[in-house]
Amino acid sequence: MSLAHGRPYLAIPGPSVIPDRVQRAMHRGSPNIYEGPLVEMVAGLWPDLRRLAGTAHRVACYIGNGHAAWEAANANLFSRGERALVLASGAFGHSWASHARQMGIEVEFLDFGRAAPADPGRVEAALRADRAGRIKAVLVTQVDTASSVKSDIPALRRAIDAAGHSALLAVDCIASMGCDEYRMDDWGVDVTVSASQKGLMTPPGLAFVWFSQKAQARCGQGDLASPYWRWGPRAQAEEFWQLWGGTAPTVHLFGLREALDMIAEEGLPAIWHRHRALAAAVWAAFEAWGAGNPAIALNVPHPDWRAHAVTAARFGAPDATRLRHWCETRAGVTLGIGLGAATPEDPGADGALRVAHMGHVNAHMTLGALAVIEAGLTALGLPHGPGAVEAAARVVAGAAGG
Ligand SMILES: *Cc1c(COP(=O)(O)O)cnc(C)c1O
Repeated sequence: MSLAHGRPYLAIPGPSVIPDRVQRAMHRGSPNIYEGPLVEMVAGLWPDLRRLAGTAHRVACYIGNGHAAWEAANANLFSRGERALVLASGAFGHSWASHARQMGIEVEFLDFGRAAPADPGRVEAALRADRAGRIKAVLVTQVDTASSVKSDIPALRRAIDAAGHSALLAVDCIASMGCDEYRMDDWGVDVTVSASQKGLMTPPGLAFVWFSQKAQARCGQGDLASPYWRWGPRAQAEEFWQLWGGTAPTVHLFGLREALDMIAEEGLPAIWHRHRALAAAVWAAFEAWGAGNPAIALNVPHPDWRAHAVTAARFGAPDATRLRHWCETRAGVTLGIGLGAATPEDPGADGALRVAHMGHVNAHMTLGALAVIEAGLTALGLPHGPGAVEAAARVVAGAAGG
């Protein structure tokens, strides 16, 4: 008999859990878009969005999802026929590259597989080989949500500088913003893209592009910067509608305001610490389960390469799918599907799943999800090592303090 009735927990890597406070802030009729509370509130969003990304520079907002943020970056960074160096450590680099190709941008592609971050040495070599300076920007995903690999952004900046190349650095922080540490200006990033529905705890529908002065000077002049996507007029709008290229995303903005307040109240260092601790708890549990069954393993072997927002793991096909189904229907926890996880040894995505720990998630939610997985492994008779929940609890005890 199912024990799922109660508050469900969507532990998939986006959309993430929406806090009650954000839901309440969005529960309102259409506000006036010409004057009054909405217009007054919006002025305060920009400093908070800059602080979130760690930049003193500009930010443009679009009504759209992460794919819209990619398109906004591509449209402003390149003209047709110009070249991008795209780095992939999972699925999302492939998708960003595909978007770019379809827009007429030439793509040079470096694939680092599904379990390792972008290698700065290979990036430096690729840039050194580009003697004609055809590469206009390096595109990289900080956290690949499919593989849960995290790339070292400062190391990639150093690689570009070491090559003496003028390419701009553009980073996809859609999964990692408000979860993993990120410092746009300190790390020398030119363009950052993100979206509302992951660490920002707001429904899908808002896309963000932050861009440095260097990016602003060099970009938006090309033949891909069509009126809707051009970021300059949004970031320097003289009239309210220009911020959105039309009607404002009214209630989303009230939700975002509340989410940014919650982020400010907790503070980014505390938020990064919470995500790191919850991630480490998940890793500890998987390591314990895997000790009793070699089919159970974290996707990313090296802890420094693992995201703090999401964890991808293998269970052997079809056990991951059976387990996900059990967790959802019997215990009310929805885990993420394996995304792009099929390999010749492990056909189909039925051998992979993902546990999200991004955004509005605390210790009891993560420990609860892990205990539910433990129950599912037991109920389905899947072999696993002992002590996983205890190991996770020890991590939480250590990180939360006495
Ligand atoms: C979710 C995600 C995307 C795509 O975002 P959509 O809102 O689904 O378009 C792109 N990149 C990363 C790293 C993501 O996590």
